[in-house]
Amino acid sequence: METVVPIPALPTVPVHGASAVFPVRRIYCIGRNYADHAREMGADPNRETPFFFGKPQDVVVPQGGKVAYPPATSNLHHEVELVVALTRGGRDIPEADALACIYGYAVGLDLTRRDLQAKAKDKGQPWDTAKGFDQSAPLSPITPVAACGHPDSGAIWLSVNGAERQRGSLSQMIWSVPEIIAHISKFVALAPGDLIFTGTPAGVGPIVAGDRVRCGIDGLGELEILLV
Ligand code: MN
Repeated sequence: METVVPIPALPTVPVHGASAVFPVRRIYCIGRNYADHAREMGADPNRETPFFFGKPQDVVVPQGGKVAYPPATSNLHHEVELVVALTRGGRDIPEADALACIYGYAVGLDLTRRDLQAKAKDKGQPWDTAKGFDQSAPLSPITPVAACGHPDSGAIWLSVNGAERQRGSLSQMIWSVPEIIAHISKFVALAPGDLIFTGTPAGVGPIVAGDRVRCGIDGLGELEILLV
């Protein structure tokens, strides 16, 4: 096929124990899915339910490594998250069928320009510049369900230059993974290749150039980035 501009490269993510890679179609993210993080952001988790937003597919940084400190912010924040990788999709997926849609899981970072997000919230504007910038989604290799099962209670943690900043448990998620899949599929058709970031526990905070960020989830390994 002749194209008028070069065809963009399809982002892919390595898979633990396989030479084949996972192609990324879309990236969905859940906001305020841990009560203690909702509170630290000034929200009441008993009154507001979680919600979802998106990131462009090409902001994935497979396996982490060097990440350039983004322009137009002076308050870049880390958010460690369990990431779900779909092998099947559909609309109106019942919770009971949701786990069968999952290929595997990974450790992800939902990097956030917190200053731009606060401005957007104040003005009722969208979050794209706060959440969807270049290299805003570093991701570990994906572990297939066959190797890790469906993690729902392990530790999730993050450290900056060796000092722990975030530690929680997947059991603290307000919406479980099946509930998230059922919810998003009421609004859009999910499909193979979709990634879902499932929210972050408390302890988010700023990072600057030179910082080394390590994070991990029990049973899924670790992810490390160096901000440059
Ligand atoms: Mn997040």
